[in-house]
Amino acid sequence: MFTIKVIDKFSAAHRLEGYAGNCERMHGHNYKVEVCIQSLKLDSMGLVMDFRDIKQALKGAIKDMDHQYLNDLPLFKTKNPSAENIAETIYKKLAKTIPKKVTLSSVAVWENDECCAIYGKK
Ligand SMILES: [Zn+2]
Repeated sequence: MFTIKVIDKFSAAHRLEGYAGNCERMHGHNYKVEVCIQSLKLDSMGLVMDFRDIKQALKGAIKDMDHQYLNDLPLFKTKNPSAENIAETIYKKLAKTIPKKVTLSSVAVWENDECCAIYGKK
């Protein structure tokens, strides 16, 4: 199995409604997003898929969240913009654009250097 990974970043503010602690107050993160794509086979170029195509798809998936207050977005009207929910949102957006011949393995959303949430296939 081959795995490739691309990374992009975006900045946003959020608050965790109902959280008993300082994350209940509005604050910001420079989120790092890692996307892993897997394939059993390589194409004729020896690639899982072109890094540029994944980078472009990832940029499209995060652009509406960049420099936003996430709690105000329709995406997060009914659920907290936790790293977990952000990862699931990005995964589902990417799943619509990634070619069927490869597998969207996981999306990891890092809130800082120590903490990330990962959404992906079992
Ligand atoms: Zn936070």
